[in-house]
Amino acid sequence: MAELTFWTGTMDAGKSTLALQTNHNHAARGRSGRIFTCNDRAGEAHISSRLGLTHDAIEVTPGFDFWRFVVDSLTQGGRIDYLICDEVQFYSRDQVDALAKVVDELQIDVFCFGILTDFRTQLFVGSQRLVELADRTEVLQVEALCWCGKRATHNARTEDGVMVTEGEVIVVGDVEAQDGPPAEVAYEVLCRQHHRRKLTAARAKAVSLAPEPLPFG
Ligand SMILES: [Zn+2]
Repeated sequence: MAELTFWTGTMDAGKSTLALQTNHNHAARGRSGRIFTCNDRAGEAHISSRLGLTHDAIEVTPGFDFWRFVVDSLTQGGRIDYLICDEVQFYSRDQVDALAKVVDELQIDVFCFGILTDFRTQLFVGSQRLVELADRTEVLQVEALCWCGKRATHNARTEDGVMVTEGEVIVVGDVEAQDGPPAEVAYEVLCRQHHRRKLTAARAKAVSLAPEPLPFG
């Protein structure tokens, strides 16, 4: 029986690495797959992992129809045994629904990889739908770590080094500032406590380097 599987973890947990490893394992067994991504850090139509592996992929645009794509490929004589879907947090609800239909109606395995929650600690739309529909949801075993050494469970966004908890969910590149140059956007994984206190690695370092108050002050 085909399955819809959702592999999830924070940003540094190695999801894209596992996506590429999964593809390799199935391809090595003579199975035929298709690889998809959305807003990957390498730019359009590539999966890239932090360990340096890359692979061509099909870019999932907002109107992309998985059901039509698979049916058209099969109709034209193509063979598809499985789909690898990276960055699924950015997929729409309809796109995830279509993936479930591909599994059920066409008996094609769909392996999904994505981040569960955004920098505001809220579920991404695509990830929420996968939690609702997946046959299995697995949390990646390679744990990302907060600067304090605890397990990192939350994703933080910084703009010019300052952690923010409001803004557009999807930012590609830098954000426009009201006045002055656009803010530089970066991401960092933190434990829940340090996410709550907005204590990023840079801020923690700045605090620790601040001059000690005089003991007799
Ligand atoms: Zn921490």
